[in-house]
Amino acid sequence: MTNNGVKKVISSVFHKVASIPDNGKLAAYIPELAKVNPEYFGVYISSVNGFEYGVGDWNQKFSIQSIAKALAVTLAYKALGEQIWQRVGVEPSGTPFNSLVQLESDNGIPRNPFINSGAIVVCDILICNLKNPKKEFLDFVRDIAQNPQLDYCSKIAESEKSVGYLNIGLCNYIKSLGNIKNSPEEVLDFYFNLCSLEMTCRELSHTFLFLANHGSKLFDGKEVLNHSQCKRINALMQTCGFYDESGEFAFKVGLPGKSGVGGGIIAVHPGKYSIAVWSPRLNARGNSYRGVRFLESFTTNTRESIF
Ligand code: GLN
Repeated sequence: MTNNGVKKVISSVFHKVASIPDNGKLAAYIPELAKVNPEYFGVYISSVNGFEYGVGDWNQKFSIQSIAKALAVTLAYKALGEQIWQRVGVEPSGTPFNSLVQLESDNGIPRNPFINSGAIVVCDILICNLKNPKKEFLDFVRDIAQNPQLDYCSKIAESEKSVGYLNIGLCNYIKSLGNIKNSPEEVLDFYFNLCSLEMTCRELSHTFLFLANHGSKLFDGKEVLNHSQCKRINALMQTCGFYDESGEFAFKVGLPGKSGVGGGIIAVHPGKYSIAVWSPRLNARGNSYRGVRFLESFTTNTRESIF
């Protein structure tokens, strides 16, 4: 589709989705996220050909939450190579993001890096492999985004830490099963900070463009992941990026992607573009209600899905 055609579809789908009643709910279990204006709605697309377009609140910062898990596993994969898959699996879990039910039968090896248990193990791996994990992870994100301003939000990290009993339980349980090497306090501090990263839709779309560009940064051509590794991260986003809604997201949208309880979604078309959508109210599976609806109509009307 032409760039003008894409712009027209984005605008019309945006207005159509904005006008339907949003029956999702804010992620109120994190006190700071309960304070966000639920009416925000923004979209931003960047293509590997240099096309960019945004509508709505695309320039407003928000908490990217679990979307950061895709960046954490990227850095851990770079550091550890294929060995990483001995510590975390690559299968969809079919369970909610914060579930602990499969850990016992799986001997503490989480099904994939995008459920909380998997991301917590990835944080442990990063702590083992980096001297200053919080700083080096942030430097990595700033570099792929070409944006030195990106940062954690300590208010959100502290807010989640103050009520993070389930994640604290998950981390301690995995530790008891032998798949956490560092102290749970250190691992969780890193995890809560990772989830507190803030970006606008534009920044998010720029950050993930390397996954649309076969693993290399668009602006300087430097490799973040090789072709095969990039294929694998996109495959994980396709099969596991939306927890127990991953099949439905593939069915409706047809793009690899990752969601967060801040209401953000990043979706990637390998070889073509990355698109960020943000609307804070979540459906029952913890994914943005309007975000999923927007992307479904977007790929249907542009015919720009991977299928
Ligand atoms: N920080 C959130 C949590 O651990 C991330 C969950 C998400 O975005 N799905 O609960």
